[in-house]
Amino acid sequence: MVGGSTRDYWFCSHPSVSSAVAEFIASGANMVTKAGLKIGAAILVLSMAGISPAWSISDDAKIKAALENAYSKVVKMNGGKNADYIPALAKVDPKIFGIALVTADGRVYTTGDVKSEVSIQSISKVFTLAMVMDQQGPAAVEKTIGVDATGQAFNSIVAIEQYKGAEMNPLVNPGAIATTSMVKGDGRRGIWKNILEAYGEFAGRPLSVNAEVFKSESETNQRNQAIAALMYAYGRIKDNPARATDIYTEQCAVSVNAKDLAIMAATLANGGKNPVTGKTVMKAANVPEVLAVMATAGLYDDSGKWLAKTGLPAKSGVGGGIIAVVPGKYGIASISPPLDSAGNSYKAQLAIAEVDKSLGSNPYNVTPYNGAKMAGGE
Ligand code: GLN
Repeated sequence: MVGGSTRDYWFCSHPSVSSAVAEFIASGANMVTKAGLKIGAAILVLSMAGISPAWSISDDAKIKAALENAYSKVVKMNGGKNADYIPALAKVDPKIFGIALVTADGRVYTTGDVKSEVSIQSISKVFTLAMVMDQQGPAAVEKTIGVDATGQAFNSIVAIEQYKGAEMNPLVNPGAIATTSMVKGDGRRGIWKNILEAYGEFAGRPLSVNAEVFKSESETNQRNQAIAALMYAYGRIKDNPARATDIYTEQCAVSVNAKDLAIMAATLANGGKNPVTGKTVMKAANVPEVLAVMATAGLYDDSGKWLAKTGLPAKSGVGGGIIAVVPGKYGIASISPPLDSAGNSYKAQLAIAEVDKSLGSNPYNVTPYNGAKMAGGE
């Protein structure tokens, strides 16, 4: 908790609004625009009520303390086990553990190991979804794939059968392979180039593939091949399910560290504009839907539990990474390869939840309004 309170005034901490507030304060009584007066009135009401914004993204010391606190608490905790259904993942050092947080205005905070790379795995699904939404519009995704949670494991075949391939979510394997099959490009090579470039723009640096992981998963992904064949049979993948699975497998093998993931998450937190490079990498209008899909299915069949605990849209991967997004404020990522039984990193979940709690970032966590009524309304 921050300052003994979890109060968190969203509008005061969004960068665009906080700069409007700063401008208002700087101009004192001379600022006569309606918006300025409203913001001024809001500040007055909050201060009359004895309330001050608990935390803003410019609160350097609080962010650092939140990260250090989460790291020192969670580093000692042990649970979970590396994924081994992809043989190369079983060999990854289970001790890798780091946390990175990047604010919507581009400040980077890290603790622990944020240099070691793991394969991005299912976190990639978010960014392929973002690409397809940008290329073809959200309606194309809703119609072909759907946005409801399946409530089943990420590689469930029962879920496909239940709805005959409809109502799959883009963040579980059937919907994700179908999403990858929708990416436009010039043949296998062109599609792949577009995907890798887009991921690099989200991360703010060119990314590459872990060849060992790609080979290992390609040799053992018969279940995903079956999933794609079934989605093809139900008309959800239009053609070439084998190629879609192959590209999907390669996207899962892209290598990232915790800082890359946090910048990718922060790009979503900042409405599709990478706050570190300043480049717009997806349409701001599509960000809310991507975040909503993350909230419904980002941690597979434990998505409800996660949302109940943190209130944050998030996405995990079996490589051990998790990203979470606090819209307008920050993106956060943690990596630790051992997974719990739902396939989500044991330590990364704890670490992000801890930072979320320290910074009071759960957007559903509000203190009942207790100030004087502002002008307006009936
Ligand atoms: N490549 C993995 C798979 O398809 C991704 C799964 C995951 O990260 N949950 O099985």
